[in-house]
Amino acid sequence: MAAHILVVEDEVDLADLVALNLREAGHDVSIAYNGANALAEISRRRPDLVLLDVMLPDISGFEVCRRLRRSSDTSRIPVVMLTAKAEEVDRIVGFEVGADDYVIKPFSPRELTLRVDAILRRVGPGATAEGPQVLSIGELKIDVPAHHVEIEGDEITLTALEFRLLLDLASRAGRVQS
Ligand code: CA
Repeated sequence: MAAHILVVEDEVDLADLVALNLREAGHDVSIAYNGANALAEISRRRPDLVLLDVMLPDISGFEVCRRLRRSSDTSRIPVVMLTAKAEEVDRIVGFEVGADDYVIKPFSPRELTLRVDAILRRVGPGATAEGPQVLSIGELKIDVPAHHVEIEGDEITLTALEFRLLLDLASRAGRVQS
């Protein structure tokens, strides 16, 4: 599935290498070298997925992700964080701010491309357009476009990641999921 991907990375060589691999995989790629440019680029042209470095020269990748999740226009854009740090705390912060996946440097650009494709298949525009708008399973009701979840009529609050996990599981109810 060809998608528009925004690579946010201040290391120019790495940004170019990642962009090259994604373009070879058929994607349309834009690059931003800092957080402010990334946010400006995203509001100018909404990407299908953002590859977001944590350590940026201005605002951190975590803060960029937080801002994307806060706005209804950008809250559903899949975000993959890129970082040199392997500490668990960073992974936890990444998921808390709503990142969909986490890739630790150094990584293989080919592997990154495969992970990007897997996420696009799971949460991309094609994937959501095919699915039902409201899923009801027993007492659980999921309004997909509204990101609204109810159990026995009570609304429950979920992070972006929790919502996607729940939606993933609910849409495959009765099947084994790895
Ligand atoms: Ca960096």
